[in-house]
Amino acid sequence: MNCDRPAILACVLLAGAALTALATTASQTVTAQTQRALAALREKDFALAERIALSAAQAQPERAWRTWLIVATARERRRQFEAATDAYREFLAMCRCPSERTYVLERIRQCQRAANPPRPPLPISKRLGPAQRQRLARVQQRLWTESSQHFLVRAHNAELAKLVAEQAETSLERICQIILPGQVYPHSVDVYVWPTVEEYLKHAATAPEWAGGSFSIKRSDDGQVVRRIDLTQLDGQGRFDTNTLDRTLPHEMCHLVLAEYFGDAHCPLALNEGLAMMAEATVDNRRLLLAGAALAGSGRIPLPELLRMERCESDNAEVFYAESFSLAAYLHARLTADEFREMLEHIKTGLPLDEALQRALYVPPDERFLARLDKAWQTEAIRQSQFLRALEPTMTASR
Ligand SMILES: [Zn+2]
Repeated sequence: MNCDRPAILACVLLAGAALTALATTASQTVTAQTQRALAALREKDFALAERIALSAAQAQPERAWRTWLIVATARERRRQFEAATDAYREFLAMCRCPSERTYVLERIRQCQRAANPPRPPLPISKRLGPAQRQRLARVQQRLWTESSQHFLVRAHNAELAKLVAEQAETSLERICQIILPGQVYPHSVDVYVWPTVEEYLKHAATAPEWAGGSFSIKRSDDGQVVRRIDLTQLDGQGRFDTNTLDRTLPHEMCHLVLAEYFGDAHCPLALNEGLAMMAEATVDNRRLLLAGAALAGSGRIPLPELLRMERCESDNAEVFYAESFSLAAYLHARLTADEFREMLEHIKTGLPLDEALQRALYVPPDERFLARLDKAWQTEAIRQSQFLRALEPTMTASR
């Protein structure tokens, strides 16, 4: 179960109300401190909220134990998940109300999940030895089929079909954990791995000429929804292409899941592509370097324009993809899982990204919000690329 922001605030306000009710018999100081901490929380001054609530909780542990909830919420909003868990446990030690205990236990679970996000699986490119790469490059006459919980994979290589099925399950699980937390996927997907780019272009359900992979959702004659991903086995030199499993498969899978999640609703292309790149098993630091360089120079695509783009031309495609990845990663890193999911839910109802984000953060509408977001993202992207450049040449593309 996800506890959303209103639930958090309701619970915190409940704590405040309870303290106010006690004010006649308990310390007026505690009540005043609680009100000030709640006001700071509402103003999003989380450091101040924590300081006031913590001082109350420590000074009067018997009377002010409920303010641990404010301490915990403020810490959670500052992404100090382990410290937030400690504060929730202090609250639990005193709380006897079953519904509040259930709520706080769920928050602890969310904090633990956020503190220890699932690590991406080791990329295929780092797992395969030379002998296995050679075996995976073989094209057999027979078309092999491998089944898993969600996938039916067909490839001209039995070992590859098995590996694709395993990697597809891992990618789907990661997408449903990280990008669309809590999303269930009760569907099956056909995956075809074509030996060469030429075969892929000939057979794929939808095959843009610049990609070695694609996805499609179609309705068959008997009314069934057919979900499909097409991939390519070999690169231009006839070697097994590890990018197919590390990048193309999770990328196309993410597009597939997002396409069904958004349905007829419009998702900005930049966000869609940014999330698909986040689903890949490796982080391509060249994208972050390029995004930082573009945002610092004259070749940048400003955020309002980036969010309006429905397609990209060859002369700005690299910057478009780099900035899209940088933006999606920036938002994902700064929002809690609940807030990120809520932002997507608002986009799904038709709101533009900036309005969806303001709602997810429960901040009042502000017409300068998009400009402020653009500036904050730009500053961080430039700082990040400078940091990566300082680490070169040891780091150009890594996990
Ligand atoms: Zn894409």
